[in-house]
Amino acid sequence: MKRFQQNIRKVVPYVPGDQPDFPDMIKLNTNENPYPPAPEVQEVLAKSNAEQMRLYPDPTAHQLNAAIAEAYGVEEAQVFTGVGSDDVLAMIFQTFFNSDLPILFPDITYAFYPVWCDLFRIPYEVQPLNEKLEIVPEDYYKPNGGIVFPNPNAPTGIALPSAAIEEILQHNPESLVVVDEAYVDFGGETVLPLLKKYENLIMVQTFSKSRAMAGERIGFAIGSVELIKALHDVKYSFNSYTMNRSALDAGTAAVQNAAYLQETTARIVKTREHTKQVLAEMGFRFPDSKSNFLFVTHPDCDAHELFEALREAHIFVRWFDSPRIRNYLRITIGTDAQMESLFAFLRAYLKK
Ligand SMILES: *Cc1c(COP(=O)(O)O)cnc(C)c1O
Repeated sequence: MKRFQQNIRKVVPYVPGDQPDFPDMIKLNTNENPYPPAPEVQEVLAKSNAEQMRLYPDPTAHQLNAAIAEAYGVEEAQVFTGVGSDDVLAMIFQTFFNSDLPILFPDITYAFYPVWCDLFRIPYEVQPLNEKLEIVPEDYYKPNGGIVFPNPNAPTGIALPSAAIEEILQHNPESLVVVDEAYVDFGGETVLPLLKKYENLIMVQTFSKSRAMAGERIGFAIGSVELIKALHDVKYSFNSYTMNRSALDAGTAAVQNAAYLQETTARIVKTREHTKQVLAEMGFRFPDSKSNFLFVTHPDCDAHELFEALREAHIFVRWFDSPRIRNYLRITIGTDAQMESLFAFLRAYLKK
């Protein structure tokens, strides 16, 4: 091997969910929102002018950060935005997880966390979920270089109550605790009110799920002015212009329509609760999800076989080839009509 080849950085990348493209498909595999974004987003995009593209966007993302600050009742200097929350989380890992002690996260969780640890050479130690697939707060009461978990957790959908998160914070005054609230709008409890009390807490959210803007790539973090300043310093050392013009405008329009967010998430929650009933009647078992997906298993069928059969029928769900969860499928909540098609398929499949 040549020296330049020896010097190539080897990483095992995160594998995102497939983006199949069939006209008749039912796509329940990447937790996208089945409804369109707020109507104002469409209006803003229709008015956009390609001539403006020759100009760089605002590196400070002022308009969007101010709109997020207004919507969440914080200072603009407490808001950091990035190209999806993946970008925000990657910046957080790089900025804050610089200890020799391992950072802690659950064994079953967002599969990107260990990938960033390897990429940034951050030591980590996974904490097994209990047999009910719940996070055990006590597992996080030990010396560590930082803590990160989604709430609700993915792919289980289980939400940790704020009181349990507060316990974790109280046991970790020396560590940064990152709560990834990608799904919080579907029924979890946000840590937003705890930010006033804990300087070592940072909250991360995304426009990809509840705001139906996965294709626009917008995520944000809210924390103390000190932490957000540190994040900006790292961002400006990497790429000043992360947020493009259309994301700044569309994101601002979306965050200003709280009523639409409320209405569409309520609709998805209603469909989710109905789906729980129907799937339970069919014999599926699943944790009590507070997110826009269910993590299901069935005593009489192999999850991977079912996954393949669904795929044949152009119904796409997610299966993880990972030891403890190999017999589970993660099913995104779609429209009522999409779920009815899923139920019809499953009824026929289980009768076989
Ligand atoms: C979807 C998701 C994200 C990232 O979403 P972006 O599209 O990058 O904003 C982050 N964390 C969890 C747990 C997710 O499920």
